[in-house]
Amino acid sequence: MTDSNKRINYLKATVREADNDTRIKKWLLKHYRSIVQSQECCRRAFHRKEVSVNGQLAEETRILKGGDIVEVRYDQALVDREKLKTIPVDIRYQDEHIAIVWKAPGLSCSIFEKAAFYALTNTTEQEKFWSPYSMQKAASGLLVIAKTEKAKDEINRQYQKGEMDLSIRAICHGRLFPDVLDRIKEQEKTTTIQEEVQQNNNEKSTKNDYNNDNDDQEDDQDNMNRPVTELLKSIAIVNITRSNHAEYLTTVDLAIQTPLNGAALRKLMATQDRPIVGNSTYTRVLKSSKDKGLCMTTNHIAITHPTTHERLSWNSNEPDKFELLRAREHKFWKRRMDEKLETMRKAGISMDASGGDEFVDDMYNEENGKPLAYVLGEKEFCQLKFKVTEACLVPRPSSEILVQATVDRKPKRVLDIGTGCGNLLLSILNQSKETECGIGLDISKEALQVAKENADRLGIKTAQFVEKDMSLLPEAGLGLFDVIVCNPPYLSEKAIFKHRLLEHEPATALFANDDGYEWYTVLSKVAPTVMHRHSKLVLECGKGMMERVQVIMAGWKTVEIRKDSHNWDRCLVLEME
Ligand code: GLN
Repeated sequence: MTDSNKRINYLKATVREADNDTRIKKWLLKHYRSIVQSQECCRRAFHRKEVSVNGQLAEETRILKGGDIVEVRYDQALVDREKLKTIPVDIRYQDEHIAIVWKAPGLSCSIFEKAAFYALTNTTEQEKFWSPYSMQKAASGLLVIAKTEKAKDEINRQYQKGEMDLSIRAICHGRLFPDVLDRIKEQEKTTTIQEEVQQNNNEKSTKNDYNNDNDDQEDDQDNMNRPVTELLKSIAIVNITRSNHAEYLTTVDLAIQTPLNGAALRKLMATQDRPIVGNSTYTRVLKSSKDKGLCMTTNHIAITHPTTHERLSWNSNEPDKFELLRAREHKFWKRRMDEKLETMRKAGISMDASGGDEFVDDMYNEENGKPLAYVLGEKEFCQLKFKVTEACLVPRPSSEILVQATVDRKPKRVLDIGTGCGNLLLSILNQSKETECGIGLDISKEALQVAKENADRLGIKTAQFVEKDMSLLPEAGLGLFDVIVCNPPYLSEKAIFKHRLLEHEPATALFANDDGYEWYTVLSKVAPTVMHRHSKLVLECGKGMMERVQVIMAGWKTVEIRKDSHNWDRCLVLEME
């Protein structure tokens, strides 16, 4: 802000007779709008005591007489600075060398840079704001700023050499597999990205759903066709949301190989037919969304401090609009799905959720009304004896077909969601020679203790157990699985009134909201985060529930349906592509 005194709008004028008895503010706005700019700015100029009449300070209510001499010294720089003060600059860290600031989405970068420069302390050594990378208007997130020449050189060196960690969170159209990066690398081996881009662009331009306004300067051709390894270190899937327009929306964390090339990154996602949600080059607008802004935010930075040489890192939450967008898409998707189900119901297709009859078959000790398995403390399943307590569901014979359906796929890695006493997982590990690792997930610590005991008793060493709510699966960091097996809670709450005996078993293992379908919806979103292209999802369905589960799992391919010994469609095997 070195040029502050050069930016004065100066005026000295004599009031004509024709304007006799005019209020000064009105007079200024009528004849000299270019100097006082707007009503509001004019009012502020009076407050700043920039207006005088006949050599004396004037109030905005002053009535002018013909021949009065009006003088205005309108300080443009002061005005700019006042405006900049109103721009939010979220300072996450600063010392005399560097600063980390967070830019909100929708703020023009040049205005934000000025505001940040003004809001930070000790920026005198630099002429202006300096950060190794910049952001588009609609983008948001963390920026690193150098305050001194030395810091600038060092940060720039780290940035150019790829020694800085930078992560970008983005929402893409469609479903992405966690192994997408390997897939892109494979593609690169056979074809160059350049050809791929060309090919895809031709396809897309006929569809005309990309925006081609060139809004940034990053688009130089040399950089655009860098191999993926020079753009990205890894892709992690954070969230998968169902959507009517995009079928799915995938939120990803992209670990960037600096120097960052935002346009090449957007282009890469577009060539995978997974364009980032946005309104700029190589992104695609999400039609149902009112907010047309880009869904891209820098959410992690790590650098080595230029003077202390300490490794420092910062994380930031995604902007609120990301979750708003996902929640909205989910809501519309759910609404459409419910409508579809209603149509099916009207067409006479039975949609009643399982009444729980299958759960009380010959397993109750009539005397004290307790399941026999709890009285004995064990239950046989797939010819193995499992310890059971009231912390876990009693294994049912009809679930045994899930074990066979899994073993038949010869999986190397298996995940059992809602493992309970571990009956499914341990039976799979017992039968499947190919399976090297099995993980049992459950929300209940007590159930997992029982499962661990069962693994020990049965001498199964390949099982691990993880305590987690299934909706938090994407953040569990468990890697990818060849088969995910799940017997989710699927009884509607009504079942408990019908079968009071169910009172003994843990309610969280039996009942689900949405008439019993709640966890199928959750699975349709979380399972893809741990699946590769050929993974299978093996699901148990309640009596009469399978058709509706298939509607919920729309977009997945039914590989096979297995019936239980009562001839009910019980086991659904699904695949994503
Ligand atoms: N996986 C266990 C079973 O199938 C427990 C399932 C559950 O608790 N819903 O028996």
